Amino acid sequence: MLCPDRLNPHDFPSPCFVTDLAKLEKNMQILNSVQKKTGAKILLALKGFAQWKSFPYLSRAMQGPLFGACASSVDEARLSKEEFKGEVHAFAAGFSDEDMRELLTLCDHITFNSINQWKKFRPVISEYNEKHEKKILCGLRINPEHSEGAVPIYDPCSPSSRLGIRLKDFENENLDELFDGLTGLHFHTLCEQNSDALDRTLRAVEEKFAFMLERVSWVNFGGGHHITREDYDIDLLCQCIERIQAKYPVQIYLEPGEAVALKAGYLISTVLDVIHADMPMAILDTSAACHMPDVLEMPYRPAITGSGEEYEKKFTYRLGGKSCLAGDVVSTYSFDTPLKEGDKLVFEDMAIYSMVKTTTFNGLRLPSIALWDSRTNEILAVKHFGYGDFKERLS
Ligand SMILES: *Cc1c(COP(=O)(O)O)cnc(C)c1O
Repeated sequence: MLCPDRLNPHDFPSPCFVTDLAKLEKNMQILNSVQKKTGAKILLALKGFAQWKSFPYLSRAMQGPLFGACASSVDEARLSKEEFKGEVHAFAAGFSDEDMRELLTLCDHITFNSINQWKKFRPVISEYNEKHEKKILCGLRINPEHSEGAVPIYDPCSPSSRLGIRLKDFENENLDELFDGLTGLHFHTLCEQNSDALDRTLRAVEEKFAFMLERVSWVNFGGGHHITREDYDIDLLCQCIERIQAKYPVQIYLEPGEAVALKAGYLISTVLDVIHADMPMAILDTSAACHMPDVLEMPYRPAITGSGEEYEKKFTYRLGGKSCLAGDVVSTYSFDTPLKEGDKLVFEDMAIYSMVKTTTFNGLRLPSIALWDSRTNEILAVKHFGYGDFKERLS
């Protein structure tokens, strides 16, 4: 009754993230069509989706090695190298000496967030490149200071943002000297946006940073492109890419996280208890705070299969997590039949920014992680977590 097509929650542990390979492959096909049509290369942003057991299947769906992955840290870069097999790109707001030592052995591209960091690490990178056949390409992340109205904590162009180099920061630089060894330009300014936002952003980038576009050989458009969403204008995305390619001889990269696994996963949970707390309330074996923190951080109301808005259906409940945090409440939902202990609830669109953000706060167990194929109803992998995962991250 409360299940998306063919998914039987009783086949899985609870709570459990279940990612549908069929849906992932559908997303891959859309992304691949953009790669094929334009020649742009698409990288998976691991910070949004890093279910590495799915990576070989993703590569298969793309008919060959995937584009690659982009990492926000040494550990994501290493995961990418070990499990992804494509290009490894890294960006972070700051790199330490130790980060850089490790990144040198892992990365194909490294993007810096400040002119200072670029100047600091340029000698180590050029020394590395002289000694090795594989050359690491370096880029700068710019801040075009063009906001597209995203939620402020997800807007890298909000006032006093620390992300990206502003135009005025180039004022006192000798550009020939600065660009010695630099080959790329990176910007990331969007969040869950359509291609009209990219189109406007690109115009701002061109207006302010033409001097860079003329000097580089690759341009990374960052993430935040909701390419696999139903209403996304793929034609306009392709036009944007082709327009830049026609004007400048550059390789274009996109690095979406969400678009790779959009609507591809679920979080299965179980009702532990039903209480009356000024209104009917169901306590779940999962937790918004620990297992779907974006629900509280973004904030947003995740869909539950078979449910309605508050009072839309006959029986309305607030749904709360099992942690002791007073605010650990998902939202209010209505159902056709009363909820009771043991009922399964399936949260939708839970593959992205979910399992990568879980915590063991309160000692809560991490949800299991499963890879499943809705076409065959085959469960391809299930990972369980236990006490060790809680203990190991403390000392
Ligand atoms: C977060 C991020 C991405 C991925 O963004 P999505 O919204 O998941 O597509 C890509 N690049 C950078 C630099 C990011 O910070």
